Amino acid sequence: MLIDVLQARLSPGKRFEFDEFYNLNNDILDIHNAKFVNPVEVKGNYYFNNKTVFVNAKIIYTIEFLCDRCAEKVNRTYKIDLCERFVKTQEDDAYLYDKDIINPQKAIEDNIILSLPIEKLCSPDCKGLCKICGTNLNKSKCDCDSEITVKPDNPFQILQNLELGGANNGSTKGKGLKIKKR
Ligand SMILES: [Zn+2]
Ligand SMILES: [Zn+2]
Repeated sequence: MLIDVLQARLSPGKRFEFDEFYNLNNDILDIHNAKFVNPVEVKGNYYFNNKTVFVNAKIIYTIEFLCDRCAEKVNRTYKIDLCERFVKTQEDDAYLYDKDIINPQKAIEDNIILSLPIEKLCSPDCKGLCKICGTNLNKSKCDCDSEITVKPDNPFQILQNLELGGANNGSTKGKGLKIKKR
């Protein structure tokens, strides 16, 4: 969890490898309705230069979530970059460290949160659930009238349901528009 950078401080510029596992709290994923499946692996190197520790690593994490469209459970592994600086006195875009010990947990959590997609899907072309009967359209079809689901958002649907009265049906009074019965 904690990284001792004493050797790095004594050899500025030299890179030191590390490979650690972190049990992160699911709370950080709460707003995303997701949870960690395994400990998060962080693998890379760090070096010391001018009172600053530079960390370059890959964060490998697996989360479980429900697809935003079809609500199926999904397990997915992500691999993201961690490139952060750790400094002794507060600075923008850097994390603090004390003595020769770095605790990268906050940096790891921040990078994971930023990497999460806004829309979490089981697949990019997930068809979702039928809005009428709730059938998972990835797995089967249903007989619901898809026009009904389209209608409220589609003003042209209303135009298609209109026809000119009077001209074709021989009526003498119907000259305006009338609505066709469905
Ligand atoms: Zn889905
Ligand atoms: Zn349906």
